[in-house]
Amino acid sequence: MNVHDSEKIAGIFSETGYQEGNGLRDADIVVLNTCNIRHKAEQKFYSELGRLRSIKEINPHLKVAVAGCIAKQRGEKIFKRFPYVDFIFGPNNIDSIQDWIKDNRQNTDNPPILPLSKGGKGKFKTVALNDNPEYHTKILPVKREGRVKAWVSIMYGCDNFCAYCVVPYTRGRERSRPSRDIYNEVESLAHQGFKEVTLLGQNVNSYGKKLNEGIDFPDLLIRIHDIKGIERIRFVTSHPGDFSERLIKVMKDLPGVCEHLHLPVQSGSDKVLRLMNRRYKYEDYKRKIDMLRNVIPDIAITTDIIVGFPGETHEDFRLTINAQKEIEYDGIYAFKYSKRPDTKALGLPNHVDERIKSERLTKVLSLQEIITYKKNKNLEGRIYEVLVEGVSETDINKLTGRTRTNKIVNFHGDETDIGKLVNIKILEARQHSLYGETIT
Ligand code: SAH
Ligand code: SF4
Repeated sequence: MNVHDSEKIAGIFSETGYQEGNGLRDADIVVLNTCNIRHKAEQKFYSELGRLRSIKEINPHLKVAVAGCIAKQRGEKIFKRFPYVDFIFGPNNIDSIQDWIKDNRQNTDNPPILPLSKGGKGKFKTVALNDNPEYHTKILPVKREGRVKAWVSIMYGCDNFCAYCVVPYTRGRERSRPSRDIYNEVESLAHQGFKEVTLLGQNVNSYGKKLNEGIDFPDLLIRIHDIKGIERIRFVTSHPGDFSERLIKVMKDLPGVCEHLHLPVQSGSDKVLRLMNRRYKYEDYKRKIDMLRNVIPDIAITTDIIVGFPGETHEDFRLTINAQKEIEYDGIYAFKYSKRPDTKALGLPNHVDERIKSERLTKVLSLQEIITYKKNKNLEGRIYEVLVEGVSETDINKLTGRTRTNKIVNFHGDETDIGKLVNIKILEARQHSLYGETIT
């Protein structure tokens, strides 16, 4: 989500004539697009921002902008601690960069930047943090990374208020983009030669609510599926509570929709799920997975797991491990519970000791290594359609791409294959990727 926001930020700058620079010593503007989903991400940002102090001494013309969720949540307090920051804008105010650039240019002889009418404070600083109720209808330029696959936002914000999560506070209420705008964006990507799109939202399964178009997420998939040139459609993230039987059917019926689902379980304990305000029980979750695997047997399933949520006992944790073993995910993202400002979980009793959280995280991750490797090993000898994305980052002699199930495959190939679908026979399973050869 944040990476795609960065593409939009870069899109606006490049449309107004700026170019991506190589270093900060002679840059005009630096934008730090921040994430505060967990404490660690926030700490990383503060140390980056601290580092900029000395750069600003060498390059006093450098303008510093802070974007994203920390900007939204910490607001003008950032100016107090880091007075060399010039501009703060939230995740729903990316369009305000246009005004800022205009003001900035008008004032180049006399650099102070004027506050935006949207709510600036202080003479030389600019702030754009107010939730713009029309943000979801804006069409923003996007400077995309690569030419093969692209992200497309279909909705912003979230109404779920999971007890641990800052997203509803930083990204605001859920709003779906008009389906026509999404269709046009995907169509234009197809014209530019992109082969794959990933539809993005915090909870894509509730797409269309409040939109008054009478369209839901499966309908949106059906519509987009018509667009010629787009070979693969993916989507993230699905909330298990809203994941429907109809969506399973549509995934099965539409050949362009990939056989991969990211369905965050978070915990295998119903008690913890209730405390997390997740709105489902593990049994419901498991039933949906079984249904899905029944209809699409080779589907890859990945998930997110939080360990050490307040109140999580050894028994609760055991249930998470059980879930992990029972479902045998293709891959997981696992996190230690991290206290976040404003969230309900902060006030829950029985916070778990940091050491126990670390132990649990290690257990979950090492179990997953075994499961993933075993699953990858089963793919040896099989042939998969791979969309070639580019040259491998770890070995410039190899190309890299992904199967429809989202597994990374590296192979020796011709660079003219980049952007094409090729058939690859898997020769060797590795922990985080597969190695194969092209089949002609
Ligand atoms: N909207 C998506 C993902 C949001 S954030 C969803 O609901 O699935 C991505 C993941 O970060 C979450 O699924 C969760 O596992 C993790 N996460 C969010 N807040 C967290 C916190 N306070 N501590 C630890 N992990 C967290
Ligand atoms: Fe956060 Fe829950 Fe919304 Fe995902 S569904 S963004 S975890 S509140």
